[in-house]
Amino acid sequence: MARTIVAVATPPGVSGVAVIRISGPDAAEVFRRLAGKVPRPRAATLVTIIDPLDGTPLDQGLALWFPAPASFTGEDCAELQVHGGRAVVAAVLAAILTVDGLRPAEPGEFTRRAFESGKLDLAAIEGLGDLLHAETEAQRRQAFALYQGRLTDETDRLAQQLLPVLALVEATIDFPDEGDVTDAALAEARGQALTVRDRITGLLADAGRAERVRDGVVVAIAGLPNAGKSTLLNAIARRDVAIVSPVAGTTRDALEVQLDLGGLPVVLVDTAGIRETMDPVEAEGVRRARRRVSEADLVLWLAPTIESVTERPEGAWVIQSQADRGATPMEEARHRISASTGLGLSALLEDVRAFASTMLGGEPAVVVHERHRLIMIAAKVALDAALRHPDWPAAAELVAEDLRAALAALGRSRGRVGTEAMLDQLFSAFCIGK
Ligand code: GDP
Repeated sequence: MARTIVAVATPPGVSGVAVIRISGPDAAEVFRRLAGKVPRPRAATLVTIIDPLDGTPLDQGLALWFPAPASFTGEDCAELQVHGGRAVVAAVLAAILTVDGLRPAEPGEFTRRAFESGKLDLAAIEGLGDLLHAETEAQRRQAFALYQGRLTDETDRLAQQLLPVLALVEATIDFPDEGDVTDAALAEARGQALTVRDRITGLLADAGRAERVRDGVVVAIAGLPNAGKSTLLNAIARRDVAIVSPVAGTTRDALEVQLDLGGLPVVLVDTAGIRETMDPVEAEGVRRARRRVSEADLVLWLAPTIESVTERPEGAWVIQSQADRGATPMEEARHRISASTGLGLSALLEDVRAFASTMLGGEPAVVVHERHRLIMIAAKVALDAALRHPDWPAAAELVAEDLRAALAALGRSRGRVGTEAMLDQLFSAFCIGK
């Protein structure tokens, strides 16, 4: 039987309340020893927590009792909400660990137990992990959708559509002479398999959007030397926009700032370092910066004067920079800005936000992680194979096998047949206490 684990679920440091979670067969014993009783299930109960060794009161807090199987992990779970001071948490934790059979939890161990007891499937756990790391509203929406079953609902639906197709194909194998399986029925089944295949193709095409939600829409600030790129990046970084990461890197690298523009993740890349150079280290930085620009979703081409517009990459927005210096307004410019005075910066940021919104908008994507992509690719490859025979389903045995392979791939979305190594990697990304 699994041992009982304990962990502080709230971040380390001083807080109003700290939450200590306990899961496993000895959870009730912890309450008996530290609070003198096991509280009523699922009701907050005020208790004085005492040191079981000498009876000294340690703190007063709320106790919550979730008997198995109606708990997060599926095991008996105890939760203590204590005052969030370091010494309080340390004392209560030490007292809990005096109870026989208790040990500190590994990172992600509570969630792992939830998975092992069938409380959460792998897709939900991926969603939970994303939820813990979500920094923008768009990321939260995508993570919560995955947690709530967006992927598995979809794979279930696709499997439901494929099952009758498989049944029909198998009927042609089992009862070849009975004439129950009409050509019309077979044509319809083939059409159904095609619909499923096309849906999967669409979901795969949408995976890039999910990646952008996770990693941010990349907006490169480009232009000739002295166009004002660094000044603009700094001006934006100083403005009233939420910066998710500090300005990082060196002048040899592309500088990046991650922004939260009205709930949308946007990565601003400054390409000020792009120039010809003989220094091999710097050349590597330049190469990286160039790649970042070529991969950017949007390029803001800064041009203080009409002469500097010409070299802009295809599709870039021309931004007339340093507009406070009195150059003639240019027709090509989508915005006129001054990083020095702040002129036009709000309008520019709003425009970038609208661009990001168009890219990321709509319902959250279904295929979010690489694992999901591989599942969908496997299902698509199998369906392609099943559909390859022109006088369908000639070679019914083979077609049935391909359809079964597609169904098996879709079934993997819940991760029941995952390998240990993959699980270890997934759970290690969680914090202790989750
Ligand atoms: P970069 O090479 O494109 O990164 O350009 P910088 O940001 O280093 O700017 C080049 C020069 O132009 C610096 O001396 C800046 O102070 C100046 N500069 C940048 N933006 C503005 C602006 O909006 N107005 C004015 N007057 N000067 C600016």
